[in-house]
Amino acid sequence: MRKRFCKIVATIGPASSAPSMVRLLVQAGVDVFRLNFSHESHAKAAAVMRAIRETEKEQGAPIAVLADLQGPKIRTGSLKGDALSLRYGADYRLILAAESNDGDVIPIPHPEVIDVLEPGDILKLDDGKLQLTVRERTKSAIIARADTPGVLSSRKGVNLPGRALPISALTDKDKNDLACALDIGADYIALSFVQRAEDVAEARTLIGDHAGIISKIEKPHAVEALDSIIALSDAIMVARGDLGVELPPEQVPTIQRRIVRACRAAGKPVIVATHMLESMIESIAPTRAEASDVSTAVFQGADAVMLSAETAVGRHPPTAVAIMDRIIAATEADPESAAFKSALAPDTEYTTADAITLSARRIAEVLECRFAVAYTKTGSTARRLSRDRPRATIIAATPASSVARQLALHWGVAPVITDDISHFHEMIEKAAKIAEAHGAAMGERIIILAGYPFGRAGKTNTLKISRIGANGE
Ligand code: PGA
Ligand code: MN
Repeated sequence: MRKRFCKIVATIGPASSAPSMVRLLVQAGVDVFRLNFSHESHAKAAAVMRAIRETEKEQGAPIAVLADLQGPKIRTGSLKGDALSLRYGADYRLILAAESNDGDVIPIPHPEVIDVLEPGDILKLDDGKLQLTVRERTKSAIIARADTPGVLSSRKGVNLPGRALPISALTDKDKNDLACALDIGADYIALSFVQRAEDVAEARTLIGDHAGIISKIEKPHAVEALDSIIALSDAIMVARGDLGVELPPEQVPTIQRRIVRACRAAGKPVIVATHMLESMIESIAPTRAEASDVSTAVFQGADAVMLSAETAVGRHPPTAVAIMDRIIAATEADPESAAFKSALAPDTEYTTADAITLSARRIAEVLECRFAVAYTKTGSTARRLSRDRPRATIIAATPASSVARQLALHWGVAPVITDDISHFHEMIEKAAKIAEAHGAAMGERIIILAGYPFGRAGKTNTLKISRIGANGE
């Protein structure tokens, strides 16, 4: 059983797709697996999904699977000899084309990009390693000056930091990948390069309630539209990799803090992602700065922290997870940690369910309860209690496996798949059994939340404090 509240997301790749490795990663502490459709074939994704579900059955704890769509990632076309050596201060011509054989032409096969460029615009190439500034538009091309020397190769990523592009967040490849992701039973779909709330709404029409939607915040325009994007999403990812290319790196820490705060105020889960233990792609131990970075995200109250290349292509995937697990536990042991502060925006109208979960948080505090068992059909009681950040493990007992899996991403929630209850004494006995399986001791007080009459959705109105083994007293 997990001894921590913040969750771990691990990205699958060549270093981690074998079933035996999937099992090791779960044992080391992975709660959510990310399948990266920028790299994964459909056949491979389906095979990994089978391995994850197999491990889930064997280990007995629901695991969430997050399918990450590539989104409208813009790339250069093919260059002569697949490389173009940029000279500092020299001019190059950007044209709408898939390829070019001219030594001073950079083909870009995206009309939306060529259409919007204006003098003064900056283009970042190859994850920000190279930069061009637009000087002028002529009838046949965009003239841009190289601000950095270096070799540009074919099909490298292009970022336009200052521009919102009139392109949808879902390309044809994404729609195709989405169909595969839903078909194999992904629990969450992550949308890359979201620019506005409409992008999320568009994805929702295709996804419906078949999976949760995670919006990746990696464009300056998404930061500006943050609140409206959060409102339409089921969760948010602070995608620091591309964010740090689109914006100066010194802005990333403050934006991270702002996004985490906004998500917590809105009661939506937030994942802090990218470069967290980057040196562990090679090394067996993280740098002190990396340990500090993970700890900061936990301290701020992130629902989850994520590993990318560390587990996808790194040399020590289970060790990276184990170290992340230890950093989280050590941070949460700090009594000062802001992770346990309730950061919800004050509501103007409290529902019965809000009052019940707020009370559960307070009871856990004054009675030092370690477990709160929430009977939940839709997951809403567990999500609500998670938002209040109690210092007690939220055991979400639900009959729906899809609900249980999605809850694996939420801060402090330990999902359990179990049949509905039908009597008050059954509610108490079952809760005691489940809590004991999670480490509760004889005589220990637990909190139970439920909706009465039992078996209906969305009616949390009952709170019981119960002693294990005391026959419901
Ligand atoms: P990516 O997203 O790994 O899919 O690019 C995360 C990020 O940009 O940080
Ligand atoms: Mn990205």
